[in-house]
Amino acid sequence: MPLPNYAFFKDKIVPYADAKVGVLTHGLNYGTGVFGGTRGYWNDEEKELFVFRPFDHFQRFLESTRLLRMELPFTREDIVKVLMELIHKEDLHEDCYIRPLAFYGDEIIGVRLHNVTPVLSIVVLPFGRYIDKEEGAHVTFSSWRRIDDNVIPARGKITGGYVNSALAKTDANLAGFDEAILLNQDGHISEGSAENIFIYRKGKIVTPPVTDNILEGITRNSMMTLLRDELGMEVVERSIDRTEVYLADEAFMVATGAQLVAITSVDHRKLGTGSMGPVTQKLREIYFNVVRGKVAKYRQWCYPVYGKR
Ligand code: PMP
Repeated sequence: MPLPNYAFFKDKIVPYADAKVGVLTHGLNYGTGVFGGTRGYWNDEEKELFVFRPFDHFQRFLESTRLLRMELPFTREDIVKVLMELIHKEDLHEDCYIRPLAFYGDEIIGVRLHNVTPVLSIVVLPFGRYIDKEEGAHVTFSSWRRIDDNVIPARGKITGGYVNSALAKTDANLAGFDEAILLNQDGHISEGSAENIFIYRKGKIVTPPVTDNILEGITRNSMMTLLRDELGMEVVERSIDRTEVYLADEAFMVATGAQLVAITSVDHRKLGTGSMGPVTQKLREIYFNVVRGKVAKYRQWCYPVYGKR
């Protein structure tokens, strides 16, 4: 993966090579950081780069900082402004990924969330697929359980919490699967290692509620709107049993990185016909048009980098 040329680091844009931390950094030692991730989509007809729902992404980012008691001297509007400067400086005219990170930057020994000072960084880099088999992924239920709200809140995108995702993802990949689905301690579905999950069964779309240890995904929220308003479907938020996934007609995972991944088998059990179903297919078509700013009704989700706002 090519590295970015620049980074916003602490309070200004610097060459990427200068955005460095020491090995004693609190966030690095104790996982006391939070991050975000949104995408920029290039629209070739308009020669425009659209950042997807940046205000919603930075709102969640700032909520994650609050969970770790961070007081960043930036509003979400400030962060969008900095991001625009950064993308201009990188001069990106292709699909890209945006990674804001806030971490405690003190070089000290001591696990705590008080008397430590947060640092903000942002980078932008060209980006394609996160999961290769978006059109038909084989997934497994992980033997690792999802972190609980009273352990490390999954609602926050907390760096230390991603050890849970990494454990699940690597075991799934090494066993030959494309992605892992994690269950909560009570055995209900939470989410993938970096994606929210939806199933389609008996004519309804079902997704776990935000109280089932999931990240409150922006893509999840976008998909719920598109399913209801564009496909006229009923979307229910409720806890999901593992065997409901086995019996689903369709299932898919959604995230900024993964975009919209069709799940075509779970634990070697074929889902539906074993290839991408019609609901997933229609939703993918709509989603990819929406994120590139091609659907007027959802244009407010797409923030132009170079042209008129
Ligand atoms: N769940 C987890 C654990 C994630 O890491 C992500 C990726 N940010 C998501 C869900 C999807 O969130 P979003 O749609 O906001 O990218």
